[in-house]
Amino acid sequence: MKFHDEIMRRRTFAIISHPDAGKTTLTEKFLLFGGAIQVAGAVKSNKIKKSATSDFMEIERQRGISVATSVMTFEYQNILINLLDTPGHKDFAEDTYRTLTAVDSVILVVDSVNGVEEQTRRLMEVCRMRDTPVIVFINKLDRDGKNRFDLLEEIEKELKIQLHPMTWPINSGKDFKGVYNIHDKSLRLFAPNTKADEEDVIATTDINDPILDEKLGDRDAAILREDVELVDGVNGPLNVDDYLKGKVSPVFFGSAINNFGVKELLDTFITIAPPPQGRDTTARRVDAEESKLSGFVFKIHANLDPKHRDRIAFFRVCSGKFERNKYFHHVRLNKKLRFSNPYSFMARDKSVIEDAYAGDVVGLFDTGNFKIGDTLTEGEEFYFTGIPSFSPEIFKEVVNKDPLKTKQLERGLLQLTDEGVAQLFTQFGGTKKIIGCVGELQFEVIQYRLLHEYGASVEFRALPFYKACWITSKDPKKLDDFTKFKQANVAEDKDGALVYLAQSEWFLNTEITNNPDIEFHFSSEIH
Ligand code: GDP
Repeated sequence: MKFHDEIMRRRTFAIISHPDAGKTTLTEKFLLFGGAIQVAGAVKSNKIKKSATSDFMEIERQRGISVATSVMTFEYQNILINLLDTPGHKDFAEDTYRTLTAVDSVILVVDSVNGVEEQTRRLMEVCRMRDTPVIVFINKLDRDGKNRFDLLEEIEKELKIQLHPMTWPINSGKDFKGVYNIHDKSLRLFAPNTKADEEDVIATTDINDPILDEKLGDRDAAILREDVELVDGVNGPLNVDDYLKGKVSPVFFGSAINNFGVKELLDTFITIAPPPQGRDTTARRVDAEESKLSGFVFKIHANLDPKHRDRIAFFRVCSGKFERNKYFHHVRLNKKLRFSNPYSFMARDKSVIEDAYAGDVVGLFDTGNFKIGDTLTEGEEFYFTGIPSFSPEIFKEVVNKDPLKTKQLERGLLQLTDEGVAQLFTQFGGTKKIIGCVGELQFEVIQYRLLHEYGASVEFRALPFYKACWITSKDPKKLDDFTKFKQANVAEDKDGALVYLAQSEWFLNTEITNNPDIEFHFSSEIH
């Protein structure tokens, strides 16, 4: 196949949702359509439900599964789909945000009963920052949900997106009768556990077709007509350009568990979702169809066997062709590297691949060369921009319990923070190590992994900080004075950048007001 065609047939995306909205269920139905799995129940959710420590043990046990389900590649109607998984637990939100930098579009699942929830809001903020195209799937129509007009309004208002319904539901809960496809004017009647055979689809001439009365009953047909007139009258046909610019989101209604409305979603997805897009770097914009390889590492996952400290770096190809055993340029280390066992992720199996194209995610076997944000090229010097590093919210000092293992501890801390599990700071002018995370659970993960993978025993001492902000100034002297004066609250991050640790919002605001020459940044881009 020609280079151009290889790229154009790829779609790389993520399904995002608040936990329990139905992401895993929808993923599984997609894989069934793609023929990547044969039976329901094959996709294990990597979500965390129990108390913290046992959760992590659970993650450890499931690690093989979660590595494999981090990226799921399958084909549907000749389109090669790379579905990137995102952890549902909010303590791992950073991981999700970074994964969103590696996709070209997103499907957002909203629970029709619960509407917009906390995580949905945060995830959508990241999508909006990057103008990522979003398709919305409103799930669980088989349950009594909110009034759909209210729900759409809530989503539009809370998530600050403009919605464009593609299908329209007829009732919900036990009265749920199906969906009307506003665009191809067809009716699909609801049956639990739909196989999505074409026979289920009833063509209508338009919304006034009497067949609707026959199938739905006069009352429901009348309500449907009223609803559709209202919706269609406002919207007209979908403007795909606006969708691609992230301005308008098409909406589908359905029930993932019943495989209802999923095919419409998938069919539209492969028709309108963008192929691999160009990306900005520190030097220039890189186009997906350029012949030379470029790409970046957006996720690092420790490997299955704790005795071997090797890891898998998830590398998103942005341009050119990735080839097995070919030397590429590791920009940060200024080093030539080649990979003899690059993985691809076909459903649950990892398999060695020979080559990969823009849009693909390759698993690179790593022994410590990579950290998040690292770039490979064929010689050019640049980094991909926009990979966020968020301001942590919980801070703890690392207390070494076993001085004989100091070296192991230091190495462990460096490697785990390279993986993006947490951020590491060093007290300014001192040696105190401070770990900053977005969630409590990560401290347990770090403690557990330091012990099991590095033999280092640590405890954490809580610190009274609530936020870390990177500080810069156009006036080096001012920055120097500030750092000296506020030494107890200043630390350096791993790259030596200065960070102000604020005890409270009040302190932070006071410093911002008192120091107009200092700039406070709440997230830093890795590059
Ligand atoms: P995730 O946390 O977003 O991955 O959610 P899951 O896919 O694990 O789904 C959460 C729960 O909702 C599970 O018990 C599913 O069986 C259930 N669920 C998923 N889709 C539907 C649906 O369409 N209708 C109903 N009633 N339940 C659903």
